[in-house]
Amino acid sequence: MKHDQASISVFDRGFMLGDGIYEVTPFYEGKVFGLEEHLKRLQYSLDEIMIDLDAGSLKPMMFEAISKAGLSDKDAAVYIQVSRGVAPRTHYFPENIEPTLLIYAFPASLKGFENKQWSVLVSEDLRWHRCDIKSTSLLANIKSNSESHRLGLDENLLVRDGFFTEGSHSTIFFIKDNIIYTHPEGPQILSGITRKFVIAICAELNFEVREEAFPLSALDKVDEIFLTGTTTQVMAVKEMFSDGNKIFNEPEIGPVTQKIQQAFIQKTRSL
Ligand code: PMP
Repeated sequence: MKHDQASISVFDRGFMLGDGIYEVTPFYEGKVFGLEEHLKRLQYSLDEIMIDLDAGSLKPMMFEAISKAGLSDKDAAVYIQVSRGVAPRTHYFPENIEPTLLIYAFPASLKGFENKQWSVLVSEDLRWHRCDIKSTSLLANIKSNSESHRLGLDENLLVRDGFFTEGSHSTIFFIKDNIIYTHPEGPQILSGITRKFVIAICAELNFEVREEAFPLSALDKVDEIFLTGTTTQVMAVKEMFSDGNKIFNEPEIGPVTQKIQQAFIQKTRSL
């Protein structure tokens, strides 16, 4: 249906309590990328918050959303949100309520990232300790990202206990002496699908990847930084600010980032 004809109850637990999870899957000129990986992560999020739904059963609706939105040959993405459902407000969730499902397709800018660079802000990671669940409760991400937006910056790099975790909506990669560092999977980060593809690309290009948390204190030794995400793609970082000081500056996109970007374009444009 048209979005302005869709409605949900004010007692939907997604609306009232942020009791829900989501997923975003990219379509390059109508061809889906990483479908099984996205469905697997969606299933993981559903299972972790105990919503009984088979993520795989949503597959046909994803393609239908793309086609109904007239995006079958365009760059686009499908947003899926599953909330617990409608029930009187309680902190525990009642059993046997029907989950609320929202699926829509939207045009996405997936081209041209290799010609852009982002300016970023260091922020304290204020989020909870289950960032591996792709929860719709995003208040901490919103608070941080709004700070950087107000300063005219593009993204926040979140720091917890002196170590970078991830961006407010992206994964961080650091390059130092041709070695690539990114935070290990676990409850402190979302298991990024683009992260997985980029780690595989690094192996193909014979770059060593260390899945280790990178300390803020080692930033002065970093050669290049890039961010990854389904809509962010592989985005070079130009400069980083913290408390009004510029603490990282890389005016040109570095050679390692460029190689990874080219390999990523190859992979996503030859579907
Ligand atoms: N971390 C966070 C907090 C995110 O919101 C995103 C974007 N979904 C990512 C990482 C990147 O994940 P993916 O590559 O699966 O889009």
